[in-house]
This record gives sequence, C-alpha cells and structure tokens, in this order.
Amino acid sequence: MKKRISELLLAAGIDCFGFLPLEACSIQKPHLLERCGVHCGSVALFAIPYYTRACDGARNLSSYAVGKDYHLYFKMLSEQILDVLRTEFPQNRFAAFADHSPIDERRAAALAGLGVIGKNGLLITEKYSSYVFLGEIITDAHLDALPRDISPCIGCGACHKVCPQKTGECSDCLSSLTQRKGELSPSEESVIRKYNSAWGCDLCQEVCPYTVNAKKRGTLYTPLDFFSEETRTLLSTELLTQMDDEAFSKRAYSWRGREVISRNLALLEKRNALTKDQSP
Ligand code: SF4
Ligand code: SF4
Repeated sequence: MKKRISELLLAAGIDCFGFLPLEACSIQKPHLLERCGVHCGSVALFAIPYYTRACDGARNLSSYAVGKDYHLYFKMLSEQILDVLRTEFPQNRFAAFADHSPIDERRAAALAGLGVIGKNGLLITEKYSSYVFLGEIITDAHLDALPRDISPCIGCGACHKVCPQKTGECSDCLSSLTQRKGELSPSEESVIRKYNSAWGCDLCQEVCPYTVNAKKRGTLYTPLDFFSEETRTLLSTELLTQMDDEAFSKRAYSWRGREVISRNLALLEKRNALTKDQSP
C-alpha cells in the first residue's frame, strides 16, 4: 500500500511526502479520527507546493492567495486518491485532511522527514522552502514507517528581523491582522498600508535562506498547473467588485467574506491616492 500511495502522489506531481505511524502523531482533534473510524494505523504526509512565477512580481496578496484556493485543489486530489485506495484496498479505511486535521500537521511532517521546523513557525522543505500546504491521508493499515528526529532550521534569525510583529510594529501577525473582522486601530491600519498587504504576509518566508536558495536553484516554483492558472497578484476594489460570487468563492480570501478584504483594499487605495496627490 505504501508503494501505491507513493505512486499516486507522484502521478499527481507531488514529490515531497513521507510516512509515519499514527501513534507518533500529536492528536489534536480526536473527534475527527472517531468520525472516520481510524484508531490506529499510519499517516502519509505530503507537501503541496504552490509558489508560482506570478508571485515574483509586484503583489498585494500573500503568495498562497495569488492562485485559486488550495482547498479546491486538495478536494480534487484527495477524492482521486481515496477513490483508488478504497477500490484497491476495500478492507481498509482511509481519510484525507488538510488544515482541519486531527493531527499536528507541521510536527508530523517534520517527523515524516518532509523538512525542518523554521524559527518562523513553518515547516520548511528543501525543494520548495515553506511555500507548501500540508495534507495527509490517514489509514488503519499499518505501513512500514519510522519517525525521524525533528530538526530545526539553521536559525539565522532573518525572519525575526523582518517581522513587523517581532519588531513591535503590530501586536498581531500581519497575516492574521489582514484577516481580522471589524475595525482596526490606526496603528494596525498603518501597518497594513506600510506593507501594502490586502491579504496575508510573506515577509518571514521571503527572507529565509531556504527560500532564497530554492529560488536560485529554480526548485521553488510549483510544478502543479492548478496554482499557475487564474493568478491575480494585484487586487483592487474595482477588480473585487467585478468578481461574481462564483469567482470570489474560488479565492483563498473568500472564507472571510468580501467585507474584510474590501476594508484592506480601501486602506491601500486611500494611501495610494494620498501619495499621488503629494507627488509633484
Ligand atoms: S507572516 Fe509576517 S507578521 Fe506573521 S510572523 Fe511572518 S513576517 Fe511576522
Ligand atoms: S529565516 Fe533563518 S531563522 Fe528564520 S526560518 Fe529561515 S532559516 Fe530559520
């Protein structure tokens, strides 16, 4: 079965994966395991790379929000793979998760050998740096897999130096700030303006030497076409208004509704209008 899962992942273009006994994982949401009827067994962890060439240009969106929503990709991928596994191994149970997972995915991915744990709090792979989504297939089958030691990153500290939260510019992570509902304080608004962020923040990933090296080598870019299609790097109020509900629902920022990203765009556009007025 391990060979078959590997083949299916490789056929989908996913080449960064590993296996782990379920008992090596930290179970954070046991009810999700209950729901799929798996109490012990194994986990196949995989990293889905999403960084595209479009992300190299000017943008006011985090790189993960430039293409279509990765949840759509994960749904498609997991349905395909689970269909095959359930047909070929009818005696076993399988379930797939990403994000809303029963296990601590980042720790499990490190234990499965996918990468190191960065000081920026992210799982960093050699090939794609931290620009990956984590996903997993959990099964009640016992696969031959041993957990590896968890390794930290090289600890250069560049991510902390550049982080507006660590340097005290804002009390929250800028990425969370751009996703927060309701009114923001004047200082929070000015951080969003300063970093020109309508959604998310990539600062601690961009400066990371693992990212810099992966970009130099050219391995940073996703081979998955899904993430290079329908990319949008610079969002504006006008473009957002033109998006119908179906188009909007395909975007990673849609889960918060239109209001939050509209507020952020209004902040950026107000700044741009002021800068224009002040230029000679
Ligand atoms: S995403 Fe931005 S604000 Fe959040 S930890 Fe990284 S650099 Fe800091
Ligand atoms: S920037 Fe340096 S300290 Fe931060 S995650 Fe990358 S390697 Fe680790």
